[in-house]
Amino acid sequence: MKIELISPAAETCAWVLRNFEELGKLVGNEIFMVYPIALPTIAALTPSDIEVTIIDENILPINFDKQVDLVGITTLTYTAKRAYEIADKFRQKGVKVVLGGIHPTMLADEALEHADSIIIGEAENVWPEFIEDFKNNRLKNIYQSTNKTKLDEQDIPRHDLLHSGRYLMNSVNTTRGCPNNCEFCLVHTFFGKGMQHKPVSKVIEEIKRFPKWFLLGKYFFLKIEKGIFFSDDNICANNRYAKELFSALVNLKIMWWSQAQLNIANDNELLNLMDRCGCYAILIGFESLKSENLKIMNKKVNKISEYKKSIDKIHSHGIYILPSFILGNDADDVEDFKKLVDFINKNNFFATTLSILTPFPGTILYKRMEKEGRILDRDWNNYNFQRVVFKPQNMTPEELQNAYYWVLQQIHAYPAIYKRLTALWNTGHFKKYAGKIPFYLRILSFLYITKYLWTKDLSQIKFILKIMLIAYKRSTDVLAVLLGINYHYYVYSLPKGIDPVVYRNKLNHEEKNKENYL
Ligand code: SF4
Repeated sequence: MKIELISPAAETCAWVLRNFEELGKLVGNEIFMVYPIALPTIAALTPSDIEVTIIDENILPINFDKQVDLVGITTLTYTAKRAYEIADKFRQKGVKVVLGGIHPTMLADEALEHADSIIIGEAENVWPEFIEDFKNNRLKNIYQSTNKTKLDEQDIPRHDLLHSGRYLMNSVNTTRGCPNNCEFCLVHTFFGKGMQHKPVSKVIEEIKRFPKWFLLGKYFFLKIEKGIFFSDDNICANNRYAKELFSALVNLKIMWWSQAQLNIANDNELLNLMDRCGCYAILIGFESLKSENLKIMNKKVNKISEYKKSIDKIHSHGIYILPSFILGNDADDVEDFKKLVDFINKNNFFATTLSILTPFPGTILYKRMEKEGRILDRDWNNYNFQRVVFKPQNMTPEELQNAYYWVLQQIHAYPAIYKRLTALWNTGHFKKYAGKIPFYLRILSFLYITKYLWTKDLSQIKFILKIMLIAYKRSTDVLAVLLGINYHYYVYSLPKGIDPVVYRNKLNHEEKNKENYL
């Protein structure tokens, strides 16, 4: 019996899931930051008499003619349309399809139109029962997971089934859930109250099993431990567990990043441990610079008065902050976007995640927007954090969309990237990791960036020349330069954003002219 597990490609991806084209050109193959951990986790639970394969559609095309008995598709809201297309095609060929993940959990009836079965909630709990039913030809429409997954009983995910050389980082999950309940977030709805923790010994065993050698792209066979992305939603939420985990990681000498909340800055012991155990960067949801917004979204853990102090503290421990902000909150107005750009540049945030507020089905936000009649678009492809799908409170959808492009382009202009990168490098932050990257690769990479001098874009030429002047230092991070160029190319391929205040004046002016004309 053969099962194919599929992660559908999104029409356009969130930052961390993006294809790093520029790095891909260097290593000879498309490279993504991380892989979806759900499928290797499910594969590990599948009995050994069944042959399992995993297709991440970002990396490999789907072969619809392949002889398989069952297809399982993990489905997020912004991959739902593609997931349904894939499911419909396989079902037309007589292959049974099961859909799982957040979207089918929230919109079961919709998902059932495209599947023989759907799994509601955490799939691990019902997968053995589902497989048994499939083998005995008695599939039910709905498999509802009522219990929380016991991470201590979970088998090590089948990382070996992925095309490891196409990802910059390995993905490991240590906790499930989050004690907070932010209005826009699905974590609480999907995982319920409370948290689950994988025993630290299991996490260590999982990490130790990763191969020490790996092929990056086509050409680079590297003997370094790959970085690790801990795919937790809030890795330090349980302080005691986090400290136990980080203490155990110290001896492994890995580099890792994950997601946490800003209050990690209040715990020196935790920050010291994170620094010592290889925490390279941490994604923190600042979400907004306005306390009214934080109140509306129920992000109680963030205190705007503490932002500056907390940022400096985390940076002083040699940890890059990857901040995340939401645009289009109910208290946002067009004057606020310039303040956000200044805040990002001033605090030397290298890679910022900017998301347009998105009312995902199943969130408290979705229910509120629905009640207020503010949802404008139900094309799930547009629920990708990059398009306005609702009516904002203090601006038009067009104004918000324009502001999103404008902020992105402001923070990814070359002078801004250079300023933030060099400020971080000057702290010596990268130095402690530089030794992990083979010397020849550093030299080769810096030679490689000279190719970006062949352009008519003067700001790019200036950026590269300035970088080359400091490229010999061990404190510089080639990968960050390539990522910076990658982001720059991407955001400047989007429609041009205009200063939101100027844009509003322009719209008002046009409106007045129209009235006068009438
Ligand atoms: S803190 Fe983060 S993970 Fe937790 S509910 Fe809020 S947004 Fe979600």
